[in-house]
Amino acid sequence: MKRALFWFRNDLRLSDNGALRAALAAFDEIVPVYILDERYLERDRWGFRRTGPHRMQFLLESLEDLHKHLQELGGGLMFRKGLPERELPAIAEESGCTAIYASREYTHEELKVEEALKKALPIHLFHTATLYEPEELPFAISQLPEVFTAFRKRVEGYASTPKPLEAPEHVSVPVLPPMNLPTLAALGYASPPADGRAALPFRGGAQAAYERLVHYFWNTQSLSRYKETRNGLIGADYSSKLSPWLANGSISARAIYHEVEQYEAEIGANDSTYWLKFELLWREYFKFVAMKHGRRIFSPGGIQGKKVVWKDDPQLFRQWACGSTGDRFVDANMRELLYTGFMSNRGRQNVASYFVHQLRQDWRKGAAWFESLLLDYDVASNYGNWMYAAGLGNDPRDRVFNTGRQASMYDPDGAYRNLWLEEKGQGPGAFLEQFL
Ligand SMILES: Cc1cc2nc3c(=O)[nH]c(=O)nc-3n(C[C@H](O)[C@H](O)[C@H](O)COP(=O)(O)OP(=O)(O)OC[C@H]3O[C@@H](n4cnc5c(N)ncnc54)[C@H](O)[C@@H]3O)c2cc1C
Repeated sequence: MKRALFWFRNDLRLSDNGALRAALAAFDEIVPVYILDERYLERDRWGFRRTGPHRMQFLLESLEDLHKHLQELGGGLMFRKGLPERELPAIAEESGCTAIYASREYTHEELKVEEALKKALPIHLFHTATLYEPEELPFAISQLPEVFTAFRKRVEGYASTPKPLEAPEHVSVPVLPPMNLPTLAALGYASPPADGRAALPFRGGAQAAYERLVHYFWNTQSLSRYKETRNGLIGADYSSKLSPWLANGSISARAIYHEVEQYEAEIGANDSTYWLKFELLWREYFKFVAMKHGRRIFSPGGIQGKKVVWKDDPQLFRQWACGSTGDRFVDANMRELLYTGFMSNRGRQNVASYFVHQLRQDWRKGAAWFESLLLDYDVASNYGNWMYAAGLGNDPRDRVFNTGRQASMYDPDGAYRNLWLEEKGQGPGAFLEQFL
């Protein structure tokens, strides 16, 4: 009986999971496992929890959903907390697995774990997060264009997006111990109270991702208006809201891309349907930027290597994080993030610009705060966008936003500011304490 470990990472789905299909094709049985990497439960250099309660809750829901779907196919999920490079070889030994199959990651810490694992067991890694197979691109990653438009034109002209793979019909696993997924409280988190103002009551898992897709595409046809609404601030349907599920892989970019094409064929293509594919290309681009530039995406001068002296004023930081700077547009956005783990793209651009260009604070601290809070935290997209906002990334221009002007353009009647600045509960300071 040939048996392999299947290590779920940010690919928490059964459909369009090439790594899973490969493991099932090559082995009689697999042991599906998720390791909650204890490093992500620690505090970072700034003192923030690397994974805040919003995203942890979303992750636990995602794992529960994955377990349920695996059970329906004859399998189940094994859960452990620890260091993957320690846990996986131990589980392999206990369960008689001779290899590991997994999805590739592209950033420093994740690559280090892969390197460590390679010393213990043969590990087979697959690209499952990107639209394109990096090896199929019309350029080597080292030759990735430094400007997004040049990248976009080359891939749109010369690369194709493979069709998503079907989910397997059956998953053969040995007898597994009960999953014993911890609760949020057992992991040391207070549960974030539901906030009725949230853009969406996000729920983790492939099932919820699919329901969101159906809602946004087919039921409401919001996709046909995306280009006009995408700079919105309030409500569920100004943008797709697929990012949290994309980030942990509950849905794949390819599945979304091909669903857009299906929609275009059945309902009609327009600038909006194209624009969603365009935004998926931004996500793609940042993954390739991370692959190309390695650890430089975390350095003070970004991939430009600029010499900038950043300030670190705890008081200014706290005001920004609590939404108490006095700039009502920035504050409303920061409170939405604090209370719900989500913020619109328009909001993110403004608060990042304010943090870096008005407050002159270290962009990496702002990025780390986002890392802790965001439901959709994705290493490459977060650090890539922050560098961009700080003028240290792929566009060296300083992208300074006039937040007052932005507020009058995108929130002309103040509805968004009023929504988030009218305090009903305990106030942002107390909320922050609870989560830091
Ligand atoms: C400072 C800053 C930090 C950010 N951090 C993250 C992050 O950690 N994770 C993340 O997924 N996005 C990040 N973004 C990008 C963007 O704000 C979110 O992807 C988007 O707001 C998510 O909402 P949506 O799914 O409704 O997006 P939609 O507008 O519906 O777009 C569809 C998808 O395209 C992708 N996308 C759209 N815009 C971008 C972009 N600028 N960069 C990369 N991908 C994009 C996302 O996967 C998104 O789900 C950040 C942007 C800024 C300015």
